[in-house]
Amino acid sequence: MFGMNHSRRVDAFHGQRSRMMRQLRDRGIHDERLLEAMRTVPRHEFIPPGSWEDAYADHPVPVGLDQTISQPYIVAFMIEVLGVEPSDTVLEIGTGTGYEAALLSRIAARVFTIERIPLLARQARENFARLGYHNIEVVVADGSEGLPQFAPFKRIIVAAAASSTPAALLSQLDENGTMVIPIGTDPQELVLFRKTAGQITATNLGGCRFVPLIGGDSVQG
Ligand code: SAH
Repeated sequence: MFGMNHSRRVDAFHGQRSRMMRQLRDRGIHDERLLEAMRTVPRHEFIPPGSWEDAYADHPVPVGLDQTISQPYIVAFMIEVLGVEPSDTVLEIGTGTGYEAALLSRIAARVFTIERIPLLARQARENFARLGYHNIEVVVADGSEGLPQFAPFKRIIVAAAASSTPAALLSQLDENGTMVIPIGTDPQELVLFRKTAGQITATNLGGCRFVPLIGGDSVQG
């Protein structure tokens, strides 16, 4: 139809995004709601334009201030093991520029996300507003303390590596809830916690590599 310019605009990232989606499926990501979110959330919008040619490549990309946007596969893997349901409230630690929170906002009811660097938190808020993601609350704070005023959370996802499990986060996990978090320093291991009948169980999911969680009882650096 004439006059609908947006439908005629060339999607410059179509090829890159298709390749990313193929890689995710090849590596075993199969949650269809998550895959749909990964297909529709424009990852390049969370990356400085100077790095757009790498936007959909399967590695982290620098976003300034010594921080990165996480690799697509590890983001997908963490969200898949978390087991997010449409009615869930999710707490994310380490907003960065907001990519993972944006994905979560498409598959959960509400997302709280904590970032310690105010400039990144501001960029994330701007990204969410521009893209129309209105169910995300960005808080500037030390995420290792969690958000007691909004706890408990059904899902907690930590995007930076803690030297040990932050006790505050475990205590804010809801019954039948899950938390995924990288723990340790060289090597780091991804750990999935599950709370069932008041009991916490931990499953080791293997090695990973994240920027350090800074503050609280975790590594300084
Ligand atoms: N979720 C982001 C990943 C950002 S990298 C994405 O989807 O791309 C991890 C982020 O954790 C960095 O922005 C870093 O500043 C932040 N961070 C590190 N320690 C933190 C802490 N104690 N509290 C909150 N954010 C923290």
